[in-house]
This record gives sequence, C-alpha cells and structure tokens, in this order.
Amino acid sequence: MFDIYRGPVFDMARKQFSQAADVLEIPQDERDRLLYPKRAVAVTCPIHRDDGSTVVFEGYRVQHHLTLGPTKGGVRFAKTVDIGEVAALSLWMSWKCSLMNLPYGGAKGGIRVDPYTLSPRELEALSRRYMQELIPFVGPHTDVMAPDIGTNEQVMAWFMDTYSNDAGCTVTEIVTGKPVSCGGTQGRREATGKGVTHLISRAAEEIKLNLNGATAVIQGFGNVGSVVATELHERGTKVLAISDHTAAYHDPKGLDIPAIIKYVEKHGVLKGYSSEILTDPKKILTIKCDIAVPAAIERTVDEHIAKELQCKILAEAANGPTTIEADAVLAARPDKIFIIPDILCNSGGVTVSYFEWVQDLQQFFWEEEEIINRLKKLMDKAFYRVIALAKERGISNRLAATCCGLERVHQAKKARGLFP
Ligand code: NAD
Repeated sequence: MFDIYRGPVFDMARKQFSQAADVLEIPQDERDRLLYPKRAVAVTCPIHRDDGSTVVFEGYRVQHHLTLGPTKGGVRFAKTVDIGEVAALSLWMSWKCSLMNLPYGGAKGGIRVDPYTLSPRELEALSRRYMQELIPFVGPHTDVMAPDIGTNEQVMAWFMDTYSNDAGCTVTEIVTGKPVSCGGTQGRREATGKGVTHLISRAAEEIKLNLNGATAVIQGFGNVGSVVATELHERGTKVLAISDHTAAYHDPKGLDIPAIIKYVEKHGVLKGYSSEILTDPKKILTIKCDIAVPAAIERTVDEHIAKELQCKILAEAANGPTTIEADAVLAARPDKIFIIPDILCNSGGVTVSYFEWVQDLQQFFWEEEEIINRLKKLMDKAFYRVIALAKERGISNRLAATCCGLERVHQAKKARGLFP
C-alpha cells in the first residue's frame, strides 16, 4: 500500500509505528488511517541561475494529519530529500507534537538540492518559488512551515514575504523560525539545542552524572549541534569531538567551542579550522564519552555504531538518527545507555515554534525568560511521562515516547469519527 513512500526512512518510521500500535493494542483496521499521510504534494521549482540558465528542482510537502489542528513541520533543503524521507519526518512530527500536547499534526517539506551550491540570489529565488507553488495547500490554520536542515531564519522570512504578497497583507503566522524583526519570537533559533541540553541535564540526574566535568561528542554542527555544544560547554562539560559534513575534530583535552563557533560564523563550515586535530568523521559517535549527540541527519547510528558506542547518554538531537536494527542492539546491551529519543529530545524547536505562532496570532509578544521557562516546563512534563511509561511497561524510552504521541492522535481520530 502507498508505494510512493517506500524507502529505508519511511520503513523505519512505519516499523516504529507498528511497535507502538502493538503496545497500545490498536485494531489492525484502524492503523492505516493513523499511519499514512493525509496529503502529499510534489512541486517543480524552476529558477534562473546567476548565469541566466534555467534549472528545475523537485520539492515536496507532506501533511500527516489535521485531526488536532494545522500541520506543523520544517522544510529541508538537502541533496538526499525524497518523498519517503519527507513522509517519515512528517510522522515523527505528528508523534512529537502530540507528545508535547501541541495543537498540531505533523508535516514536513523539502527540496532536493545542495543549498551550499546556490548563490544567495538563487537561494532566495528557490525559497520563494517553493512557497509560491505551495500557497494553495498551506495557511496559518492549515499548515505552518519552519526551518530544518539547510534552511534558516532568512529562508523563513522569504517564505513569509512570498505568502504575504499573495494574501495582500502581512501574515506572520504562516511560518515560524522567522527573524525577530518580522514577527519571530525570542529564543527560537536556540530553542532546539537548549531543549536538547535541558533534557541531557534531566537524563544526567537520572543516572547521577554531574555535567560539570562530564564529556561529550557531537555529530553535526549546524543550528542544533552548535547550540548544544555551546550550552554543554557553559555547563562545564568537555566537548571532546565535533563534526559536520566537511570535517571532524577530536581533542581529548576538550575543544575550544567559543573559538570554533566564531570560525563557523565566518566560514560557514568546520573545514579549515585546524589540521592538527582532524579525525575520522565515521568514528565521532563511538569515542569514549559520557554523552553522545547525533545532531546531523537520519540513520547515522546503525547496528555497527550501536555496538561500539561508549557513552552513558545518547541524546538524539537529529530526527531519526537510530535505525531499527541499532535499537535492537542497544536493547540487548548489558550496559544500558540512557536514550533520549528524537521526538522528545529535539521537541524544543517545535514547542517554541508553537509559542511563536500563538504570539503572532495574538500580536502579543513575550519576554525570552518566559519562553524558556514555559519550554522547560513542557519538556519536563513530557520527559517524566515518557520515562514513567517506559518503566511501567518495561519498554524502551523510544517506544514509550511514540506510544504517548500516538495514543492522543488515535483517541482524537476515534472521537471525531469518519463520515458515514
Ligand atoms: P543544519 O542544516 O543547521 O545543520 C546540519 C548539520 O549537520 C551541518 O553542520 C551539516 O554539515 C551536518 N551534517 C550533514 N550531514 C552530515 C554527516 N553525514 N555527518 C556529519 N555531519 C553532517 O540543520 P539543523 O537545523 O541543525 O538540524 C540538525 C538535525 O536536527 C536534523 O536532523 C533536523 O531534522 C533536526 N531538528 C532540527 C530542528 C531545528 O529547529 N532546526 C528541530 C528539530 C529537529
């Protein structure tokens, strides 16, 4: 059924869904309605290159369900984007929003492009064209976009401007993750990384680990990974190793994170920072440390890496970093690693996006302190709910988190019913 989504990433999301549906004893005939996206749109996005030639990119937007409110989810610009990956990410967004008790279904979008090869003008043209093509399918009460891999505040500003030009008035609530100067919220850019670090500190309390003096490794040094590095560094944790798609560095004495942040602000990537501490990017996550943070792309923790992990906490900042096979290996390991599953770990981003949407709808803006306090409160509530369910049912934190998310969507669909 629904062959268009077939592929390793959707397969993984489907298997995770089935495991949770089994725990919740959801009848077989109700499962497809919960699993398959309500709507998937494919668009072609032609733009002029700087040299005057024309090029066409493929784009997608998948809206998983609209049962609890509008759909919500990021837009990714990456070479690997395909409709199966986008659909899987929309499912994970659904369980995440539901777990956090937000009034949203999940969505995700993407363009198959290497954004690093585009000039600023080409990037703007592509961003505007993507939103233009999707105007009939999105809206502040239908589907609200946000940044993800390869997109940022500027791209959101172009999305918002394109939508607003069509509407004939400024519609700030059409996207989140915008610059504060045009309706964005305080704290959104750092929200995902700060949320990840907050839950690392909760997990550390659970296993009685002091973050001051602990050690960490981080894969991915974009929006999320760089904020986690900064936050951990500020708490006295030694960041031993980091990587991005251009380079990987390892220093057993601990890396100078503020200096690396400055370098990346100037150069965009890690490459060129140092030639002395270069290391093998494939080995980053398996370096002996207290906290390992995959903060790049899906499926970087496979069964081989899972066997070799030497951390006490695996904080899944990225979406879908751990494969089903790796999960089985981790479950069988005698030295239990405390896993903070992705839909819980990185939920700070969508939670502050929700705060941004609420502020935009009301045109009433909050202080950063209020945002961070509310964020921590919601994340704590979800964290303790997940670990309590995991203990009660004897299941993994991932399965417990998926169950919490799925259950609410299932109940809401049942209550709303189907047309006779
Ligand atoms: P980003 O584009 O800002 O950064 C991605 C980083 O990953 C870059 O440093 C890139 O070089 C690196 N990378 C890509 N491929 C890699 C590889 N094979 N090995 C090592 N590094 C690699 O994206 P981001 O917003 O930081 O997102 C990172 C992850 O967090 C993604 O999985 C995303 O879906 C997830 N996430 C992001 C947010 C958010 O608010 N931005 C929210 C929730 C989840």
